[in-house]
Amino acid sequence: METMLSERGKLILVYKNYKYYVGRVLKRTGENSWRCFKKRCKAQIYTLGGREEPIFSRTSGTHNHDSDSEAVLNRQKISNTVKRKATDDTSDRPSKIINREVSENVLRSITVKDIKYIRDNFNREKKIKKCATNTP
Ligand SMILES: [Zn+2]
Repeated sequence: METMLSERGKLILVYKNYKYYVGRVLKRTGENSWRCFKKRCKAQIYTLGGREEPIFSRTSGTHNHDSDSEAVLNRQKISNTVKRKATDDTSDRPSKIINREVSENVLRSITVKDIKYIRDNFNREKKIKKCATNTP
């Protein structure tokens, strides 16, 4: 069970290769509820502890779709982290940030294609940032 940030910086829980959005806190039990990432899916998960370091409590409902592959999740995780850093930190070069992220995360399944994807994503974000900054 781990958390990551979505492309928009929202907290996401990953459990058994399914992704969940953070939901509300249950008053009675103090559990955090998380809704499946897929809109039409009714599966939910409940956790204890803080949202950033959730502890598994229970699940409810079943998924009506397949889970993501670990490779896809890894790529998303790194890409979103790098992307956020691209907007937070304008001084580092993309390759530097990407290399740091890739070495910090234990990656068994990242490929050259993934790195290219991440770099493209990063550069796109930089461009958007630049445009936004230059607009009066
Ligand atoms: Zn689902």
